[in-house]
Amino acid sequence: MRRVLTTIATVLCASLVQADEVNIYSAREENLIKPILDIYSKETGVTVNLVTGGADELIQRLSLEGANSPADLLLTVDVGRLYRAKEAGVLQSVQSPLLDAEVPANYRDNEGYWYALSLRSRVIVYDKERVNPADLSTYAGLADPKWKGKICVRSSSNIYNQSMVASMVSRNGVAQTEEWAEGLVANFARSPQGGDREQISAIAAGQCQVALVNTYYLAGLLNSSNPADRANGEAVAVFWPDQNSNGAHINISGAAVTKAAKNKDAAVKLMEYLVGDEAQHWYAETNNEFPVRDDVQSSELLKSWGEFKADDIALDQLGIHNAEAVRLMDRAGWK
Ligand code: FE
Repeated sequence: MRRVLTTIATVLCASLVQADEVNIYSAREENLIKPILDIYSKETGVTVNLVTGGADELIQRLSLEGANSPADLLLTVDVGRLYRAKEAGVLQSVQSPLLDAEVPANYRDNEGYWYALSLRSRVIVYDKERVNPADLSTYAGLADPKWKGKICVRSSSNIYNQSMVASMVSRNGVAQTEEWAEGLVANFARSPQGGDREQISAIAAGQCQVALVNTYYLAGLLNSSNPADRANGEAVAVFWPDQNSNGAHINISGAAVTKAAKNKDAAVKLMEYLVGDEAQHWYAETNNEFPVRDDVQSSELLKSWGEFKADDIALDQLGIHNAEAVRLMDRAGWK
């Protein structure tokens, strides 16, 4: 009898373990997240189902699906999107002593609605041949007429630019930031086009001398198997802006448990795994991002760009000031 009971208990446990699953809506490119999720599934037996899409599209889908949404976890890049998702009422608060201990306070929502998993900086890159880095200093300095016709940057519809400008609005107000944006636009070498990688290739092609890009795009070019990508990456160097003031602008990739989550505990466990040693090393080495934990080393390439001062603004400010940032960039003629 005892043996029968043990067998039943074993079967029950096995089926409970098998029932563990997490359904993810992810705005990260599949190849930037799936490998680490596969490792997690293999280690834990938890099934992880991944739906990939645009961030705004996924947030809208969560809104439309409401309580019937199959999603447990939202993964996205840029805190502006996480802020939007919280405002849209599609997230729920998480209580996790581990997440609170591992994720620095300025890189998570103060009510536990979202947590950063990795960091990236939006930096100035410059043409190694034609720009003297001593002429660079701050983001504000890019509005100086000495850069006329020399700056490439992507469109103002891009959330990375919106978040950067929102941080300036938070610090300096709309009027001063708008004046800066007008100066920057006056220095554009061309009408905004392409993504961050294309700004770097435009420098390599001699179309401009300075650009604003996220760090992992440059790292991706330098680590590319394509020689043309590597040559583009090697044409530029990183300049860390605002080192004597606020520090370089930081943004995040992050995760949030959805309001409709049916596997909340499993979703939180996965988030905790993603800030653990293995996943943080993976982010650093494979994804060319900075670990969110300062006790985990960056990749050699990122370290080769030197120590830098990071802006420690509370990241929800980037969401709070997003709409003002979008409107002022529009008024300033930033296409
Ligand atoms: Fe990106």
